[in-house]
Amino acid sequence: MALTSETGAPALLNFFELDDDADAVVTSHELSVTRSKLGDLLDLLPAGLLIHQEMGIVFANQEAARILGLGGDALIGRHFLDFVEDADTEAQRAAFLRCLKGRELVRSQDGVILAVDGRRTSAQVSMSPLPWDGLPVIYVLINDVTALKESEERLRQLSITDPLTGVFNRRHFFDVAEQELARARRYGRAISLLALDIDHFKRINDTHGHAVGDEALRLFADACRGILRSNDLLGRMGGEEFAILLPETDMAGARMVAERIRSRTAELAVASGTGDVSITVSIGVSSCRSGERSVDAMLSCADEALYLAKAAGRNRVIAAADALAL
Ligand code: GH3
Ligand code: MG
Ligand code: MG
Repeated sequence: MALTSETGAPALLNFFELDDDADAVVTSHELSVTRSKLGDLLDLLPAGLLIHQEMGIVFANQEAARILGLGGDALIGRHFLDFVEDADTEAQRAAFLRCLKGRELVRSQDGVILAVDGRRTSAQVSMSPLPWDGLPVIYVLINDVTALKESEERLRQLSITDPLTGVFNRRHFFDVAEQELARARRYGRAISLLALDIDHFKRINDTHGHAVGDEALRLFADACRGILRSNDLLGRMGGEEFAILLPETDMAGARMVAERIRSRTAELAVASGTGDVSITVSIGVSSCRSGERSVDAMLSCADEALYLAKAAGRNRVIAAADALAL
């Protein structure tokens, strides 16, 4: 079977419609019917299928054409790796050639396919060498896993965030905070933690209803997000209690952040049926340079300072260092 044209270019317009003069044991009519049925059958596959020879693609089913963004015929002669995003061309082509020559099998490798129109498809790609009449041919199977990846990411987000405020939940906050603390320990960097508790929150619920309380929590979390840097960590510990980890931040810096959050919170206007409701927050601050302490220890230290802030009249920031002097 000839896989290239006389000019040497990969000229197969349809892999299954060529070679009618082969030493067939069936009639030419039977052969062309079989080939056409085979093409139709491959179009039914839920995965993209490319048949590739060294020079380029010689057959693409409908799903492959959809993923790559080109009609089947327009794909003939193109190289599959030209559609693989971030392909380290040298290494990828070498692996591709090893596979083509029948020495290597590629099984379900994750990758991103970049269609001609710029569309990205998360895909699992398998490649299998299977010589065709002695010529090296590679079968490339492309599974579109975009929807699967998206739902995995949605589930992951749900498992790490608090649904009401969108901030990290307690478990994820602790997981990431432990990693940040280990990093601070390794490099001897400052790191601080704030414990925050909205003042008289029960009163807000009792007076204005639970929905207004919920809205207050959302606004408060948004206000914090607006003040924090991208590598600061905000988590809801439960109820109206939050914690913030501030990497690369010493006590003086942490106090400033806490004070900014305290004053911004006092300016918030939470809409209720009887007009705007205002809220305040009390904040305890703990800090350590060497990161020797655990997140638990830092949180209980900040909690002690928070307790003093409540006792001192609420709507204030108290640092653990000040607490020692009180
Ligand atoms: P303090 O100033 O001492 O912190 O008083 P507080 O009223 O804020 O504290 P307390 O612990 O007595 O009350 C917390 C309230 O928070 C009680 C609970 O019903 C309410 N709460 C907890 N979670 C939610 C929630 O998701 N939504 C709403 N609306 N309220 C919540
Ligand atoms: Mg509380
Ligand atoms: Mg409270």
